Amino acid sequence: MTAQGLPMAVPSEGLPPRVRIHEVGARDGLQNEQRTVPTEVKAEFIRRLADAGLSTIEATSFVHPEWVPQLADAERLFPLVNDLPVALPVLVPNERGLNRALTLGARRIAVFASATESFAKANLNRTVDEALAMFEPVVRRAKDQKVHVRGYLSMCFGDPWEGPVPIHQVVRVSKALMDMGCDELSLGDTIGVATPGHVLNLLSELNEEGVPTSAIGVHFHDTYGQALANTLAALQHGVTTVDASAGGLGGCPYAKSATGNLATEDLVWMLHGLGIETGVDLGRLTATSVWMAAHLDRPSPSRTLRALSHKE
Ligand code: MG
Repeated sequence: MTAQGLPMAVPSEGLPPRVRIHEVGARDGLQNEQRTVPTEVKAEFIRRLADAGLSTIEATSFVHPEWVPQLADAERLFPLVNDLPVALPVLVPNERGLNRALTLGARRIAVFASATESFAKANLNRTVDEALAMFEPVVRRAKDQKVHVRGYLSMCFGDPWEGPVPIHQVVRVSKALMDMGCDELSLGDTIGVATPGHVLNLLSELNEEGVPTSAIGVHFHDTYGQALANTLAALQHGVTTVDASAGGLGGCPYAKSATGNLATEDLVWMLHGLGIETGVDLGRLTATSVWMAAHLDRPSPSRTLRALSHKE
């Protein structure tokens, strides 16, 4: 470590020169936290993340407010941050949600499918195919308006009810999302059970079935301590979009452990150590997460955050 709290950059061959971090703390993170934070705090959080150099910050969710009470203030929050010079995708489950998002000027949306029937039922009360049918008109209308569409796919590696998820099942739903018109996919390891070989196999199968690596983002959870190893495998395969959550906020209510999203600080430490550009100022990011942890009244699970914010 250098005196400035940065890793020594030692580039490694075969890795992308730059990675785009898709910051999910304000949405995936806060949606899964016990404590609901005030709208103004969320807006300041997003502003601070943008100031720290994150260029894609998922802002909120336009699901029915009763589904996700932590994000029920989407209508109030979005206008408070929409002037920021960053991409601000929002989650949209259906046409009603799309209408709400478009009315406020959202230019990037995300739909969220499941690779397994059990999670589709638990999360959307639909079969996998019924959920896809619900998203189809949403994606079509968004594309008609030149809105960028991300397709989240949950349970790509394991499912808490079904166990290991067959790769062909993940590939089938991935292709359906791409065929529908999604611009990018985010492959979610929702319960954090993936290991690097599994990641590489899935990426290769997707490529073979016509889904290009350039359209793939990875969304790893650190439940079993595998998120960075899985990320490195994905980078070696050519993936350049990685989801992470500032301070490791949130997780998955269906996972056994409280440890969920890969912390952005941990990711940035590894990427900068590999000499990979992210545009992120790790010091500003860390300060932001320390500030947010105080609002949530709980310590961050991020190892890097703890190391950098610990004063002897
Ligand atoms: Mg997540």
